[in-house]
Amino acid sequence: MNRVRILAFNPVLHVLDYRVPEGKAVEPGSVVIAPLGPRQILGIVWEPERLPADEVPEYKLRPLLEVLPVPPLSAPLRRLIEWTADYYCAALPSVARMTLSSTAALRGGGTMTEYRLSGREPVRPTPQRAAAMDALHGEQATIRELAALAGVSDGVLRGMVTAGILEPVTVDLDRPYPPPNPRHAIPELSPEQAAVANRFVTAVKTGGFSPFLLDGVTGSGKTECYFEAIATAIDAGQQVLVLLPEIALTENFLRRFEARFGVPPVLWHSSLKSTERRRAWRAIASGQARVIVGARSALFLPYARLGLIVVDEAHEVSFKQDDGVRYNARDVAVIRARFEAIPVILASATPALESLQLAEAGVYEKVDLPARFGGATMPAIKVVDLRIEPPDRGRWLAPRLIAEMKERLARGEQSLLFLNRRGYAPLTLCRHCGYRFQCPNCTAWLVEHRLSRRMACHHCGHEVPTPEVCPECHTPDCLVACGPGVERIADEVAELLPEARVALATSDTLNSPEKIGAFVAAAEEGLIDVIIGTQLVTKGYHFPELTLVGVVDADLGLEGGDLRAGERSYQQIAQVSGRAGRGAKAGEVLIQTRHPEAAVITALAAGDRDAFYAAEAEARRDAGAPPFGRWAAIIVSSEDEAEARDAARAIGGTRPILDDVAILGPAPAPMSLLRGRYRYRLLINARRSAQLQDVIRAWLGALTFPQGVRVNVDIDPYSFV
Ligand code: ADP
Ligand code: ZN
Repeated sequence: MNRVRILAFNPVLHVLDYRVPEGKAVEPGSVVIAPLGPRQILGIVWEPERLPADEVPEYKLRPLLEVLPVPPLSAPLRRLIEWTADYYCAALPSVARMTLSSTAALRGGGTMTEYRLSGREPVRPTPQRAAAMDALHGEQATIRELAALAGVSDGVLRGMVTAGILEPVTVDLDRPYPPPNPRHAIPELSPEQAAVANRFVTAVKTGGFSPFLLDGVTGSGKTECYFEAIATAIDAGQQVLVLLPEIALTENFLRRFEARFGVPPVLWHSSLKSTERRRAWRAIASGQARVIVGARSALFLPYARLGLIVVDEAHEVSFKQDDGVRYNARDVAVIRARFEAIPVILASATPALESLQLAEAGVYEKVDLPARFGGATMPAIKVVDLRIEPPDRGRWLAPRLIAEMKERLARGEQSLLFLNRRGYAPLTLCRHCGYRFQCPNCTAWLVEHRLSRRMACHHCGHEVPTPEVCPECHTPDCLVACGPGVERIADEVAELLPEARVALATSDTLNSPEKIGAFVAAAEEGLIDVIIGTQLVTKGYHFPELTLVGVVDADLGLEGGDLRAGERSYQQIAQVSGRAGRGAKAGEVLIQTRHPEAAVITALAAGDRDAFYAAEAEARRDAGAPPFGRWAAIIVSSEDEAEARDAARAIGGTRPILDDVAILGPAPAPMSLLRGRYRYRLLINARRSAQLQDVIRAWLGALTFPQGVRVNVDIDPYSFV
C-alpha cells in the first residue's frame, strides 16, 4: 500500500498521512512537500508504526506533492531526533527542524549570483559609493549581504552594478570543499601521546560505539592526539564532527587544523552567510564535507558517513542550550555516537563530575594525559588573601599581584588578568538620591560600558547612552560605579603600569573572526604585555611568553550558589591557570580571594584535583544531586504577572505525590523578570530510578494554559535563574 506518514513542521497537526503518487517510491527519511488545506507544508517521511496518527480512510488521503532532491535522513538520525524529543520533553518537530536548518539547501544545487568589486573606478564617486568601495574590498557575497557589510542600501549597490563597479560572479552552490590530507604534517608524538592516539585510532578502525573521556592537563596535547583519530577516519572515507563550545575558539582551531591537514575544516555555526550554510549543509548530506567543526547546532546535521565525534572542552556549560529545545550537546553527542555505532571522544582538562562518574562506572573509557607536552611544567598556584593583603582604596589589584606584573613587564613577558565581568562596572548608582540603573525588561542591573558610552543589560540587550545627569534627581556628575568590570581593571593597569600595552579580550572587543585573529597575532608577536579578559580567554590559547595569570576575584563564581557553582568556579580558574607557562618559561598564578579556606581555593592551591572532586561528589551524593540523582525544572512565564503566577499555582496544585520524586516550588524565579516576561519556577529532584520524563509529561499534559503562558521543561538544568 502506498500510504506514508510524515512528521510535519506544523505546530499543531504534526503527524499526517498521505498517498504516494503512482510509480513513485518514497522511503523513510525522505524530505517531502505535502498539501495541507490550501497551503504546502514541509515534512519528513517516518516509519508509520513509530508515530501515532488519526486513522484517515484511504479515499480521503491527499497525494504528496514533491520529494525534495536531498538524501533521506538516515535511521540513526531519525532515532536521535526521537530520543532527543523524548528525553528533553520537547516537541518532535522542533528537534527535527534542527536537522533541516538550511531550507535553501533542500531545493537542490545549481548556481547563484554573487558580486564583487570589478576594479573599475567610478567616474565621480559619491561619498556613499566611496565608503562602500572601502568596505567591500576583497568581499564577495549577495547584494543584500554586501549592503549589510558596507552599511548602505541595496539600491546604492545596484547602482554600482549598473555602473560596472561591482561585477557579478556565478557561484556553483555545490562546489566541493578541498579534502584534508591526513599525511600533510604528521606530528611526532611523545610516547604518552602515542599510546592515547593509538587507542583512538584502533577504535575508529574497529568501528562500533565506544565513548572515551580524554582527561589531560592543559597543554598536554589533547588536540594532537584526537587529530590522529581524525586522520584515520579521513583515510577510511568517513566524516568527522568536532564540537567546540564557542565560535570564539574556532579561529585557533582552524589554524591548527590547517597546519596538520593542509586545508581548513568545514565550519558550521549560526552566523554563516546563507550561501555558506546551504553549501555546507549539502556537502555534509552528500558526504563530500569531511571534517566539520561547529557549535552545538552541528550535532543534528544529516551526515552521510559519520565515523567519529569529538567534543572538545567537554565540561563547558555552553554546550547546554537554554532556549528552544533545551538539550545538552555533550550528552546528545554520545547518544548520536551510540545510534551511529561510532567512537566519541569527550576531551577536557577539568571534566564534569557527571563525565568522571560515567568513566568510573565503566560506561566511558578514560584515557589520561597527566603531563604537559615538551617538558613544560604546570604553573605554581598561589593564593592572595585580600583580607590580609588588600588593594589600595578604590582599587582591585593587590600589591603582590601588581609587583609580579611589573616584573613580567620588565622581563618582556606577558600577564593575563581574568575577571568574568564585561564592561566597566556591574552596578551604577546616583550618589545624590541612590537611584540604581536597572533594566526595564529584566531583574538585572544595567552594566556601564565606558568604551562605547552606554549602559547595557547583558540578558536582553536593552541599552541606553550613559546619561550626564541622574535620570531620577537630575543632579549632574553624580553617578558612581560599584565594583569592577574588565574595563575598570584596564584603567587601573593603565595607571599602575603606564608603559604596558594592554588588550581587553571580551565578547565586546573580540566580536568577529578578524578581531580574534588580530588579537592572537598581536599576542603571539609580543605586541601585548597585559591581557585583561573574561571567560573568553580561559581556553584554547597558547601564548608561550605568558607567564603570569592573575585571577582578580575568585569568589565571584561562587555567588549565586547554584548546584554546580563550585565545580564551575574550579574549572574556570584551572582553565585560565592553564594559560600560564605553556612554553619554555615556567608560569605562576595568583588567585585573589576573601575565602582562602573554600574547598575550591584550597584544592587549586594544592594542585589536588582529586580532593576537590571527591568533596564535590560527596556533597552531591548527600543532596541527591546529579550525577547521583536527577534534577528537572519547570519554568512558567508570561508578560502578565498574574497570569504567570496563576499558571504556576495550577501546576503546583496538581503536583504528583511520589516516593522517588521531590517537587519544590512554585516560587518566583531568581530572575523574576526576563526579556519582559514574568517567571516562576518549580524544581524537581528525582532518584535515578524515577521515570522523570513520564511523570512530567503526564502531569503537564493534563493541564491547559492561557495563550500568553509559556511552560518550559528543562531536563538536567544548568541554569537556575
Ligand atoms: P591541550 O589541548 O591539551 O591544552 P594542545 O593540544 O593545545 O594541548 O597542545 C599544547 C601545545 O603543545 C600546542 O601548541 C601544541 O601544538 C603543542 N604540542 C602538543 N603535542 C605536540 C607534539 N607531539 N609535537 C609538537 N607540538 C605539540
Ligand atoms: Zn534586560
